[in-house]
Amino acid sequence: MSGGLVTAAYIVAAILFICSLAGLSKHETSKQGNLFGIAGMAIALIATVFGPDTGNVAWIIVAMIIGGAIGIHLARKVEMTEMPELVAILHSFVGLAAVLVGFNSYLDHAPGLEAVMENIHLTEVFLGVFIGAVTFTGSVVAFGKLRGKISSKPLMLPNRHKLNLAALVVSFLLLIVFVCSDSVGVQVLALLVMTIIALAFGWHLVASIGGADMPVVVSMLNSYSGWAAAAAGFMLSNDLLIVTGALVGSSGAILSYIMCKAMNRSFISVIAGGFGTDGGASSGEEEVGEYHEISAEETAELLKNSSSVIITPGYGMAVAQAQYPVAKITEMLRARGIKVRFGIHPVAGRLPGHMNVLLAEAKVPYDVVLEMDEINDDFPDTDTVLVIGANDTVNPAAQDDPNSPIAGMPVLEVWKAQNVIVFKRSMNTGYAGVQNPLFFKENTQMLFGDAKDSVENILRAL
Ligand code: NDP
Repeated sequence: MSGGLVTAAYIVAAILFICSLAGLSKHETSKQGNLFGIAGMAIALIATVFGPDTGNVAWIIVAMIIGGAIGIHLARKVEMTEMPELVAILHSFVGLAAVLVGFNSYLDHAPGLEAVMENIHLTEVFLGVFIGAVTFTGSVVAFGKLRGKISSKPLMLPNRHKLNLAALVVSFLLLIVFVCSDSVGVQVLALLVMTIIALAFGWHLVASIGGADMPVVVSMLNSYSGWAAAAAGFMLSNDLLIVTGALVGSSGAILSYIMCKAMNRSFISVIAGGFGTDGGASSGEEEVGEYHEISAEETAELLKNSSSVIITPGYGMAVAQAQYPVAKITEMLRARGIKVRFGIHPVAGRLPGHMNVLLAEAKVPYDVVLEMDEINDDFPDTDTVLVIGANDTVNPAAQDDPNSPIAGMPVLEVWKAQNVIVFKRSMNTGYAGVQNPLFFKENTQMLFGDAKDSVENILRAL
């Protein structure tokens, strides 16, 4: 493939990636967005592998077959509830790749560059390795937290902000040494020391962010992985990688910003590793009163006598895979003339858009699925709310307890409805580890058990 053809293919691929992002921003066009992305990536891969700069094509194809087979196996096996972990670990691979490309680019670059170009190249290498290393360990910690292998509580090292600042300052000084020194030994040492600092910095940055802020961290690491890819693009002089990395980096940053706004968190605080938070004072382990139980049959009766119902799903619906019976119940109640709508919190589940994906999969009509801001004012006029596997996103402590780790986070104000039925298996806390006073309110009743079983029991009783 000639250089000109490769450039043309890269331009087409870049346009397809932009169309893909545009498509993915709406439910109705998301499948189309995915197809644009797949087509763009296929064109990009073919143009890169068969382009004039690529040698040893046979080896690359062998590597792609092995990597592709592992990818297909993992993607088929992964449960919907494990998607956030998968995304986090994939981000770590991008970070690791940027580190390896950086070292390779330093060791293998053509000698005899002009002084200015040499400095630019060394700066690219240094920044690429730094961003890659931060992304790598940060994503590994996010993976551990999402999988429950690492505590979701924020790590509160003494002087943690000073440690972060020191890591940045020392890395900057090492950059100057790396670029200005003529000795290969000194340069290698500076690069290695910075890599170790960046690995520790990435680890600490994400470890010091508490459970409820994890959604922002996941989208932020998505953004970092984009910048790491862009940095690799500069080192490899690959324009498409620069464009793609910048697209991922900026869309991830925009998503982080949207999620911060949705959670009433400062963007700067979260990206600076929980700067300005003290991790929350109350663990919320304590019980706060008596709760009332309800059976599936009684819930069915209540629903029959309601004229408006709002369903607020959360992570438990994903765990139970209850979206199909939930879709059936919606259809059945609507057929009886009952107004049924869904209220979706921006961080419900473990992935941005998690609940929307599940409900779309079960073919719940889009027009009854409303965002938190669109539905929050309607709870006082609602007869019954079904809280299906949601906890933190419906916790009134976010408004009432200034010491709560989730204080200030906007929540679905379900307790304002006439009746609230909470579907869960026990009195356990949600992801943020905070007790939920909603469960002890007069108008709340607990329907214990797996959410799918409970919804199916209600369906039978209906
Ligand atoms: P939560 O994690 O707060 O609560 C989920 C509830 O579901 C639990 O209380 C659990 O209670 C219940 N549950 C679990 N399995 C089942 C089951 N099989 N049947 C019935 N109930 C079940 O969920 P929310 O969606 O309300 O909140 C999301 C939380 O996750 C927030 O804190 C958010 O910050 C965080 N997060 C969100 C991310 C995102 O991008 N959306 C990413 C990372 C974290 P029990 O065990 O008693 O059944």
